[in-house]
Amino acid sequence: MKTKVAILNEQSLDKNIILEAAEIIKRGGVVAFPTETVYGLGANALDEEAVKKIFIAKGRPQDNPLIIHVGDFNISPYVKEVPKVAKEIMNKFWPGPITLIFEKSDKVPMITSANLSTIGVRMPDNNIARELILAANTTIAAPSANISGRPSPTDVDSCIEDLSGKIDYILGGENSEVGLESTIVDCTVNPICILRPGAITLEMLKEIDENVYVDPAVLNKPTEDFKPKAPGMKYRHYAPKAPVKIVSGDIEKTIAKINEIVLNYIERGKRVGVIATDETKNSYNSDIVVSLGSRENLYEIGQNLFKVLRSFDTMDVDIILCEAFNEQGVGAAIMNRLKKSAGFDIIEA
Ligand code: AMP
Ligand code: MG
Repeated sequence: MKTKVAILNEQSLDKNIILEAAEIIKRGGVVAFPTETVYGLGANALDEEAVKKIFIAKGRPQDNPLIIHVGDFNISPYVKEVPKVAKEIMNKFWPGPITLIFEKSDKVPMITSANLSTIGVRMPDNNIARELILAANTTIAAPSANISGRPSPTDVDSCIEDLSGKIDYILGGENSEVGLESTIVDCTVNPICILRPGAITLEMLKEIDENVYVDPAVLNKPTEDFKPKAPGMKYRHYAPKAPVKIVSGDIEKTIAKINEIVLNYIERGKRVGVIATDETKNSYNSDIVVSLGSRENLYEIGQNLFKVLRSFDTMDVDIILCEAFNEQGVGAAIMNRLKKSAGFDIIEA
C-alpha cells in the first residue's frame, strides 16, 4: 500500500489536507496524526472494518482495547453515563493528556473495546487532531502509531519508520509536547483508579477525588495472578531492540554501578549504551551516552524518553543502561514506561 505523507504547519493549518485525511477516515481508511501525548493511528471508531485495520497495521493483540478520541465535550453518543467525578476531570483537564473509562454505549462496536463493556475516551489538545476528528464527523479510535511493542512515536519520522506502506495516510505536525501516553483513569469504579500514569498526575487528580489511587499492578512486574486492569499494560512495551537495565539508587552510587557494568561489558567486547541526564552525562566511561534532559525538569525527560529509546536501535548496542527517576509527579509515568521497556530488570546501586 502506498502511504501518503503530508506535513502540516500547526499554526496555520492547510484545511484541504485535513479534509483529504478526514475523507479517508470516512471511507474506512487509517490515518496517523499528531497529538500532544504521542502520535496516534486513527480510524473511525464506529466502523468495525476500519478498526480491524488498526489492529493489523500495528500487529496489536486483539485483547488490547483502543481509546476513542473526540473533538468536543458531547460524548453521550458513545457512553452510558458520565459520573459527576468524570465531569469534573473533563472540565479541568480536557482537552488534554487524560483518558477516562466509561461504560460504553451500543454504538461503539465490541472490536474497538476488545470485547469489554467499557471504553476509554479522550479529547486531545492538538489542532491537527481536533480538526481531523471534527472534519471526519465521528469519534476516532487511535492507539499509539507504532508497531506493537516498540516505543511510541513522538515525531512524524518515527511514524513513517514504523508504518509507511502499511496505512493510507500520515499527517505530520510538531513533535509531541508531552511525549508520554495519556493518563488513564477508570471512572466506572468508586474511588476512581489510575490504570496508566501520565502527565496528569496522581497528585493533580487528588484535588478532584482525594481517594484516587494507582492500580497496584502497574507499578510492579505483572504476573498471572496480579494483572493490571488495563489489558495493554501487561505486555512488554516501549522496548528498543537491545535489552534495557535500570540502575536505581543514590545518584553517585548509580554512576559508580553503571560504570562498573559498562567496564564489564566492554571487557567482553560488547557495546554499551547509557541513558543519562544533563547532570551526569560526562560521568560515564562508555562512548555511547545519551541524555534525556535535566533531572530538574521531568517534563523534558518525559518528552525525550521514547525518542531516546528508539535512537539506540541505529547505534548497534548490545545493552542499554539507564538511570532511575524519582516516582513523584510525572516521574511515576516516566518510571512506568522505563520499567516496561526494561521488562522490570532493575539493579539496586
Ligand atoms: P494505546 O492506545 O497504545 O495508548 O494503549 C491504550 C491503553 O489503554 C492500553 O493499555 C489499553 O489496555 C488501555 N485501555 C483502553 N481501553 C480500556 C478499557 N476500556 N479498560 C481498561 N483499559 C483500557
Ligand atoms: Mg501504545
